[in-house]
Amino acid sequence: VKKKGKNGYQYFSNELVKKLQEKIELEGDLRKAIAKNELLLHYQPQIRTSDNSMVGIEALVRWNHPTKGIISPGVFIPIAEETGLINDIGTWVLREACAQMRQWHDEGGPLIPISVNLSSQQFHQPHLAEYIMSILQETGLEPQYLELEITESMMMDATVSTGILNKLNEHGIRISLDDFGTGYSSLSYLKMFPIHKVKIDRSFIRDITQNNNDKAIVATIIAMAQHLNMEVIAEGIETKDQLDILTDKDCGKIQGYYFSKPLSADDVEEAFFVPGRA
Ligand code: C2E
Ligand code: CA
Ligand code: CA
Ligand code: CA
Repeated sequence: VKKKGKNGYQYFSNELVKKLQEKIELEGDLRKAIAKNELLLHYQPQIRTSDNSMVGIEALVRWNHPTKGIISPGVFIPIAEETGLINDIGTWVLREACAQMRQWHDEGGPLIPISVNLSSQQFHQPHLAEYIMSILQETGLEPQYLELEITESMMMDATVSTGILNKLNEHGIRISLDDFGTGYSSLSYLKMFPIHKVKIDRSFIRDITQNNNDKAIVATIIAMAQHLNMEVIAEGIETKDQLDILTDKDCGKIQGYYFSKPLSADDVEEAFFVPGRA
């Protein structure tokens, strides 16, 4: 328990100093993490509910820290963005994800796209399309098997994003709108930009069995996506009851713990590849 008075404040400020030191230390470690081969990808299947088949898979980065163990992207991606390390990390993720998908294709795995999360800084880097094309060339993955997950807030500057997205689209790369409904949603974006898929954010799914507003919002997003000829997927499905509502609302694709947590590459092969084919 913190005490008031001089010592209390002293204690508090020591805490702050300690936190800051930890963050600086983590930054330094993160700088070396790529070279030390400490980053790894997990993969979460995207499932078509009519036949439980895997129709896509999302790459999610983790950091295996030498003393702290596995650190989640929610902790180190913000640090990477602050320090500019996100560009190197993002490049590593893209290359690793594309190489893994190409290998799975070669081994007779399903011909599905891999989804990769892009940060805002990556999205706005010059020559993004050319740079991604060079990674595809290097790894041998065809462009239609790469799906980039971006968020609505990245597209605030409509003229800039139109240019970037049209270029990616011309190359055959797919675009998915992540966390849909949580950002600066503008329906005009959906009309303006070449978007292949809309991902309904988990915050609308969490209470969907009790909350009629969430249910209505989700039903509306699904109907809208269908009218605009976009794919729609719901994320964060954890229970059968949630799944039943989504199925009832005609959402054919879902991602969430109910079907699978993010898995290591080996576990993906074991759980989802047809035996004998890989
Ligand atoms: P996101 O892109 O929205 O990814 C979904 C997150 O929800 C993942 O957390 C995933 O493990 C988690 N999740 C999936 N299904 C369920 C479920 O049924 N219930 C619950 N409670 N959670 C579920 P993760 O892997 O910790 O990633 C967190 C965020 O970090 C991601 O959110 C994404 O914004 C960011 N991130 C992850 N990998 C990368 C990356 O390679 N690059 C960038 N720029 N960001 C990344
Ligand atoms: Ca995502
Ligand atoms: Ca998301
Ligand atoms: Ca393998």
